[in-house]
Amino acid sequence: MTDRKVLVDKSRSGKVRPWRERKLENLQYGDYLQILNYKKAHRVKECGEVLRFVEDEQGHKKLAQTWFCHSRLCPLCNWRRAMKQSNQLTQILEEAVKQRKTGRFLFLTLTVENTTGKQLKSELRQMGRAIRDLMRYKKPAKNLLGYVRSTEVTVNHEADQPMYHHHMHVLLFVKSLYFKGSDNYISQSEWTGYWQRAMKLNYVPIVNVEAVKPNVDRHKNSLLASAQETAKYQVKSKDILTNNQEQDLQVIDDLEQALAGSRQISYGGLLKEIRKQLQLEDVENGDLINTDSDDQDTDQVVREIVAKWDYQRNNYFV
Ligand SMILES: [Zn+2]
Repeated sequence: MTDRKVLVDKSRSGKVRPWRERKLENLQYGDYLQILNYKKAHRVKECGEVLRFVEDEQGHKKLAQTWFCHSRLCPLCNWRRAMKQSNQLTQILEEAVKQRKTGRFLFLTLTVENTTGKQLKSELRQMGRAIRDLMRYKKPAKNLLGYVRSTEVTVNHEADQPMYHHHMHVLLFVKSLYFKGSDNYISQSEWTGYWQRAMKLNYVPIVNVEAVKPNVDRHKNSLLASAQETAKYQVKSKDILTNNQEQDLQVIDDLEQALAGSRQISYGGLLKEIRKQLQLEDVENGDLINTDSDDQDTDQVVREIVAKWDYQRNNYFV
């Protein structure tokens, strides 16, 4: 088998797609699930084992077929999900700007105090309810056109038990009137008060609000940067795979329970309508082969390539 070559899959911009890194993380995650006696462990380890690509004359590959496990914490699936979510959100925002040319964007980060693994599930549910309530409060609702919110959980590895920092990113699309006068404009301290009220907190939470520059480019505070911040991973692999087995097992077990059945991203108002108009697929349950990106476009397909994961050599070979 000396003629087999390592898989190289590059995007149009020349970036190597990290199949090998994500598959190695996926296998580590699968091993942990096995130790924890999760039935799905075997299924997870088979995620993306065989990849079938189509390729054009220039060597641009497009994934045509594979099997993804769809497990919420799977590093391979999360990579595909984040790409697809970000691509969809970008399309939705471009369309929103076309439909409401004078609309403006705000980026809101809503946090609460850290919590334990046991409390995380109910607190995430409470956050989901609270954000819907907040958007119906009189002053925020007044100039709101639409929003997209995502939930992120980061892990603080503390001595006695892991603690979870769960927070929400919300990209708000508002009428330009929002910035006119104190009847419309909502200050950071007002947003903080609304969040405290919606979450029924007995302390003042940390809330951050920033205006987003309307241009869709890659600068900080730009719309694209905010979209990517909103659509990124719910849980980063580095938080669940730290090489400290005891700690990792606890964190994975906590997160598997807490995140089951929850939604990472949801849309409201005009952004929800546009999502329907564009007939975009549900990312959380949908296909992860097509990531809704033009970067994956290929010219005329000239060949098919099958890459298989090699368990001895820890890489994909074609
Ligand atoms: Zn997977």
